[in-house]
Amino acid sequence: MNHLQRKNISTRIVACSLVFSVMASPIVGTGIVKAAPVNAPASSAHQAKEQATTNSPIRYQIDARLDEKTMTLHGSETVIYKNTSKDSLRELVFHTFADANRSESTQAQMFASANAQIRKDNPDKQAADFLGGIDILQVKETGKQLVFENKQQVLTVKLDRELKPGETVTAQVDFKVKIPYGSHRLSYYQNIINGAHWFPVMSVYEGSKHQWDRTPYSTSFESDYYTVSDYEVQLNVPASYQVSMPGMITVQDAEAGRKTVATTANRTREFVFFASPDYKVERDTRDGLTVEYYYFDNGPGKEKVIEAYIDQAFKAIQFFNDKYGEYPYPEFRIVESHVEGLAVEFSRLIQMGMIKGNPDVEGHTAFVHEIAHQWFHSLIGNNSETESFLDEGFADFSTVYFSEKQGDVMNGFKSIQLDEGAFDTAISASNTEVGDLWQPVYYHKGRQAIYQLYRTVGEEKFDLFMKAYFNRFVYQNATIDGLLETIGETLGKEAQSEIEQALRQPNFELKPEYQLTDAERAEYMHEMMKSMYHGVLAQNPDLPFETISRIMDKTLQGEPLTVVLSESASKKAKAQQQAVLKSLQTTFDIFGIQQPTVLSERQVIKKKLKNELANSNVIVIGSAATNPLVQALKPGIIKRADDIGFKWKATMSKPNTAGAYIIKHPHNQKRLLLHFFWTGDQLSTASAEDYNAMISKSMSFSSAFYQFYLMDQTGKLVMEKKNDNAISELFE
Ligand SMILES: [Zn+2]
Repeated sequence: MNHLQRKNISTRIVACSLVFSVMASPIVGTGIVKAAPVNAPASSAHQAKEQATTNSPIRYQIDARLDEKTMTLHGSETVIYKNTSKDSLRELVFHTFADANRSESTQAQMFASANAQIRKDNPDKQAADFLGGIDILQVKETGKQLVFENKQQVLTVKLDRELKPGETVTAQVDFKVKIPYGSHRLSYYQNIINGAHWFPVMSVYEGSKHQWDRTPYSTSFESDYYTVSDYEVQLNVPASYQVSMPGMITVQDAEAGRKTVATTANRTREFVFFASPDYKVERDTRDGLTVEYYYFDNGPGKEKVIEAYIDQAFKAIQFFNDKYGEYPYPEFRIVESHVEGLAVEFSRLIQMGMIKGNPDVEGHTAFVHEIAHQWFHSLIGNNSETESFLDEGFADFSTVYFSEKQGDVMNGFKSIQLDEGAFDTAISASNTEVGDLWQPVYYHKGRQAIYQLYRTVGEEKFDLFMKAYFNRFVYQNATIDGLLETIGETLGKEAQSEIEQALRQPNFELKPEYQLTDAERAEYMHEMMKSMYHGVLAQNPDLPFETISRIMDKTLQGEPLTVVLSESASKKAKAQQQAVLKSLQTTFDIFGIQQPTVLSERQVIKKKLKNELANSNVIVIGSAATNPLVQALKPGIIKRADDIGFKWKATMSKPNTAGAYIIKHPHNQKRLLLHFFWTGDQLSTASAEDYNAMISKSMSFSSAFYQFYLMDQTGKLVMEKKNDNAISELFE
């Protein structure tokens, strides 16, 4: 389906480009096209909200034209910059993060595996296609050329006069951007353009250090650190494109086959756009806020899913409005894109991955996490190169806080109380210090430290502190020092020094009295696994009943489970049966599942066949030839195996073969019988490791849905029957 879409779009792009290539020069206009809003419902209240007087120290007017044939952006920006520091400035400094795409070594590593896959799927693309960059053509101040240098993602412009505190300068920068192919913050892939970091953006002048921030974009994580600014942007794009970006969007016809999409976005942390000819837009307006979802109408029932997400967005925004402070903008946008297992926050807009199947919208915590970033990143800014905890820790705590108050036990506070151990990196660490531990340290330890504060002072005081923190830093950049000061002022010195220690010292662990007890932990794991298995199977309603991982789901739901071994097997074979049993028992322990009944005596099995065994799901381990249950039910097993296309008799008589199959219980079609088998007396030693790994894989909720598989004596998979699991790639 994706491949087909790509073919369609490239045909369309080529057609457009042939006709309009004569008009490839950049458009440099002035001001903004005044037209009735087309994308968003017109409302004077919205307009007023957007155009409320701002005193943003930076104002951008950007005009750009997208040449979709060469995937280049030709742009011109006018930047009105006010020196709000106490220093006189001799230069202006911009980030040119688009230059991170000049080489693979400066591109973000988190997209590397996605790009490796894209490369494999698109062998016609060259390594150079995955690269890009920004050329600065000229910089002027009131018509006069200024000297500039663009190096290591930093554009430095020499002013020919001193910019004194409180003074304003207007600079015009003309630029050209090559958009890389693949999965990057700025890239094109299939039918979508991801437009982050596409124009020179002002760096933050740090008055306390008397210097501009010149940090290139992080290759391991994020380094978004901006001054809230006013934006007027006009993008000239093919008429067929839908463009999502922050602010009040208006659309005006341009030259034949093209249009100008314009927006005004005041007091906005950063400016990104997403464009696709295939976007459909679903929207809803409640209490003056419009939530829009730009999505691909590529599956049955998709519109209903989108509506559910929009509803969830309203719920989350309302919650954070009440707890922290008002979301001030008239609109909030969500875009669907091709990123896998990743979602990204931007100001007034979030980027989500491709929706697959029938997702559990209310349990989709990443969605709420990105929305929470509107408060912790967009409204309250921070330097996410040096203090990522401030946005990630608070966004993740907020997600859990929201889930808790929705009555979602699994994603609520219990998920924080489950302490996964200490890390010898402090929560306040920089991206460089934290390395690839950013998720456990910033997110999990970060939200835990905030939770400890919440428990220590109680919800009422905690909420008051959060409001004070919001009021102090909204539209500003917060720091950990500033956070601690606010805690000291609102919650007292003791609370301040306790959280300071939690954040600044390594090895933070939640106080034992706030952690889950052993019994609570077992129950929590059981509930978590139960909802995982059930959720995944519910999302795949067309799966056959005979699916190996379903036996875990049924057990977690409380159905009985019996394991049957053979006692007449050889000594070595018995040890092999025990090894498989032991690894199953370990899994059951971790999942908080009560241990199953284990039977091996022929007489006992015979006696229980009609009642207990007929009422139970069964896992058989070992050779069919010696297993008493298989021997007793053989004709029924052969018949049930036939139903799933498994040639039972032929397989069991084949030497040096091992594997698994799942069938309906011959005596009860509502129960399952799963057989981890090998032929002959023993499992070959060479295949044992792969055999055990395959057992775990086939039972897991995150792997493909297996019905049967066969291995040879070396452990090589020689045959399998399975259905794809959309979430499996997230776990590999
Ligand atoms: Zn985040």
